[in-house]
This record gives sequence, C-alpha cells and structure tokens, in this order.
Amino acid sequence: MALQRTFSIIKPDATRRNLTGAVTKMLEEAGLRVVASKRIHMTKEQAEGFYGVHRERPFFGDLVAFMTSGPVVVQVLEGEDAVAKNREVMGATNPANADEGTIRKALAESIEANTVHGSDSLENAKIEIDFFFKPEEIVG
Ligand code: GDP
Ligand code: MG
Repeated sequence: MALQRTFSIIKPDATRRNLTGAVTKMLEEAGLRVVASKRIHMTKEQAEGFYGVHRERPFFGDLVAFMTSGPVVVQVLEGEDAVAKNREVMGATNPANADEGTIRKALAESIEANTVHGSDSLENAKIEIDFFFKPEEIVG
C-alpha cells in the first residue's frame, strides 16, 4: 500500500441533482481526502481531449455532449491505494451492475449519466490531474 493521488469528476447528472456533497461524503467515508476541488463547466474541446481514448467508441459524441451539459466538480483525491479505492467506491460503469454501497449503485442514473469519473491507473491519474490542475492548486 502506498499513499497515492487519483483524479475524480462529479459529473453533470450529479451537480444537476445537487449531489456534490453526497458524492464527496461517500468518497471521504471510503478513506479518500479531497486535496483539490473546483467547479467548472467543461468546454467541448476539454471534454474531447480528456476522453480522447474513447474517440473511436460509438458513444463518444453523446459522452462529450453529456459532460458539457452542465457543471462538473473536478477533484484530486489522496489516500492509501487511492486509485483502486476510488474505483471500488465508484462501482461498475453501468449502475445496473454496480455493487451495493457504491456511488453508482446509490446515485447513478444510467450507463452514461453515472455520477462519477475516476482514473483507472496511477499513470492515467497523473495525466488527468495535470490536465485540470496546476501543482499549486493541490494542497495535501
Ligand atoms: P468508467 O471508467 O467506469 O467511467 O467507464 P469507461 O472508461 O469505459 O467509459 C467512460 C464513460 O463513458 C463512462 O463513465 C460513461 O459515462 C460513458 N459510457 C461508457 N460506456 C457507455 C455506453 O455504452 N454508452 C454510453 N452512452 N455511455 C457510455
Ligand atoms: Mg474509464
């Protein structure tokens, strides 16, 4: 186990339903600490760049439209084994398959409007954190 940082997004379906606090509470209860946080409205260019790995997938256009449909809260989370811990508390991509006690099981609306993003590896966490945050915005 090691102290890690990972990147999280509270997605537009959650900000629209005023669930920023509810999501953050579940992250904190899982042992993750919010060391950076800001509410932004992603541009189309930002969303396309951030989700570039999904460019060839059939839902890419819908995903970009969804992620720019309202404000999001981008966060850096810190904790022991933070990358895996965050993926665990998020739950499966499709909330229909998510385990009890996960954020997506409790709060997500659909496979697309699934409330949270979380980095899938330590390597991608660093890339994603750098995409949205300057070093001085992160206070551990
Ligand atoms: P994640 O790592 O669990 O967020 O899932 P992926 O990296 O596979 O997909 C990125 C995001 O694209 C998901 O969180 C969903 O918002 C969206 N997404 C994934 N699969 C689908 C799909 O089959 N249809 C639609 N409309 N959106 C999807
Ligand atoms: Mg992913």
